[in-house]
Amino acid sequence: MAIKHLAPIALAALLASCGGSGNDDNASDLIVDTNPNSCQVLASNGSSVTVGSGLAGDPAAPEAASGYRLGYKAKYSNSYMVVANTPLASKAGCEVLKAGGTAADAAVAVQAVLGLVEPQSSTIAGSAFMMYYDAKTQKITAYDGRETAPAAATGYYLVRQDQQTQGSATPVPSARRSGRSIGVPGVMRMLDLAHNEHGKLAWNKLFDEGINLADKGFLIPARLGGAISSNASSLALDANAMATYFHSDGTPRAAGETMTNAPYARTLRILADQGADALYTGELAKNIVAKAAQSVGDDPAKTPITPSLMTLQDLAAYQAKKREPVCSTYRGSYHVCTMAPPSSGGIAIAQALGILGNFNLGAYGPTNPSNEGGIPSVMGVHLVSEAERLAYADRDLYVADTDFVALPGKGVASMLSPDYLKLRASLISPDKSMGTASAGDFGTPAAGVGKSEEHGTTHLSIVDAYGNVVSMTSTVESSMGSFHMVDGFLLTNQLTDFSSQPVDGAGNAVANAVAGGKRPRSTMAPTLVFRGTQPGDFLMATGSPGGGTIIQYVLKTVVGALDWGLDAQQATSLVDFGASNSVTTNVDGANTTLDLTALVAGLKAKGHTVSTSAQSSGISTIMRVKKNGAMMLEGGVDPRREGIILGDGAM
Ligand code: GLU
Repeated sequence: MAIKHLAPIALAALLASCGGSGNDDNASDLIVDTNPNSCQVLASNGSSVTVGSGLAGDPAAPEAASGYRLGYKAKYSNSYMVVANTPLASKAGCEVLKAGGTAADAAVAVQAVLGLVEPQSSTIAGSAFMMYYDAKTQKITAYDGRETAPAAATGYYLVRQDQQTQGSATPVPSARRSGRSIGVPGVMRMLDLAHNEHGKLAWNKLFDEGINLADKGFLIPARLGGAISSNASSLALDANAMATYFHSDGTPRAAGETMTNAPYARTLRILADQGADALYTGELAKNIVAKAAQSVGDDPAKTPITPSLMTLQDLAAYQAKKREPVCSTYRGSYHVCTMAPPSSGGIAIAQALGILGNFNLGAYGPTNPSNEGGIPSVMGVHLVSEAERLAYADRDLYVADTDFVALPGKGVASMLSPDYLKLRASLISPDKSMGTASAGDFGTPAAGVGKSEEHGTTHLSIVDAYGNVVSMTSTVESSMGSFHMVDGFLLTNQLTDFSSQPVDGAGNAVANAVAGGKRPRSTMAPTLVFRGTQPGDFLMATGSPGGGTIIQYVLKTVVGALDWGLDAQQATSLVDFGASNSVTTNVDGANTTLDLTALVAGLKAKGHTVSTSAQSSGISTIMRVKKNGAMMLEGGVDPRREGIILGDGAM
């Protein structure tokens, strides 16, 4: 480990000078790290390399997309750490932490860079959930920056141009590519709220890295290069997207090329100077509304596009919210807190853990965990996936935006009641898969089941030098969202996370139906774990993209660490496995060096249908563990994506 030099300095220039960062903590000194090697990576010869320098060993210089990156070991840091799914985003966050910023400050900087270098996964006009642990007050806040549907949207918004039950055509060229999928953005007002409550650095200082990269250029990462070419025909309807992601001859910009994004730099300058509100009122808001209302493509064929019904009032009225975190005790030893509705992910994870608490899961760990987390055991996968089937059954039927649709029974308390979960656990046979599960009966009328989901999301975990923690999942919904681009950023297709039909086949109202001002149900599950039965002794921050499978990715990581003693990297690398409420159990085939034959055969013998498709998780994990007698931060980054871990000292 490189030695770090943490030195308090006077506040002066770095302190909040705009945007009302009215936190009392600002009265205390910043912890600034003066070690020049911090936020750098260690090259194979032991020297430190600046991320983004383009020098040998620079993780931001893309190699050919390599699938699963083998050989990752946990990385350690003394006082702060950031794990994101793109190197330049990790760097932006790390530099803020190095300068004495909090995890909330760093999250703003990371998001600003993600919208530029990982636009296939998130956008400043998208949505996010953030779990924030404040070390001083030992309080956890669940921030909800989920998009809303425009006020004018009704149940048939996604399936009928005129929103009537039947009759008019479906949105064109598709619900996703039309304006109908575009949500009223949430993430910037959420970050503003979190920064006001937990920031130490001035808001206007948090965009420097993003502005610099957008102005001077960056090497297109392999995943972005792939997203541009695979989405070329949809992007071709948007002149702004063409100008940004394609050469003037129409060929897609490719991985490894340098690209700039001048409109994005300008947008970040506006956000830096005027605050997050600039996205919700004024010029940027007008441009978003006009873009969402586009009714004809910019392509030579002038492809018709069904416009959004979003208005300036929708943007002005958008509110980020604070939700009651979904917290439960696992095995009497851990306090697990995760996201509340409108995400369904948190309740499902808490339910599955509550069910698994009835089994001796610790006896069924993976073999040879030092090899990429090892090969999971048949019984381990069986029990976890059965618990998930039961949790998904409740999730599919009951969970939506609780501002519009109440949870069944007495809400979270009923859904997480130990007696209820014990009853659910009794439905699991050790020998035979249940195939599909029925939802539990809470004595309240059930809604209809609706389906949705897709893939264009990312996760970041951050611990700052003050001990505060962020676990944040941020999304554009599907890769590159709705392909509408304005002022350098993409607009989402988040509203396709609603059920497309407001009633099911039997005529029951669907809980996750579209309604004006409502938030589409999410699965994102940023999660925090503490030792003991209350917050205080921070143990773990984790989360992942993956649409409906997020629950499976996060749960296997948590169980890997808590039940099977895996370190942060092993738990993250471990074969993704699990099941939604179907007969199919996923056993991730991404790491082709592992022989999963016996595992698959064992599961089949218990009646599971097994899919070994490669899973595209993007798990970012930080744990706080004892190492050589001292407490240290231990990072794990998903080998299935491109991210890196950075902290104090080169890593
Ligand atoms: N939009 C999805 C959600 O909020 C996430 C999509 C993804 O992970 O790719 O649950």
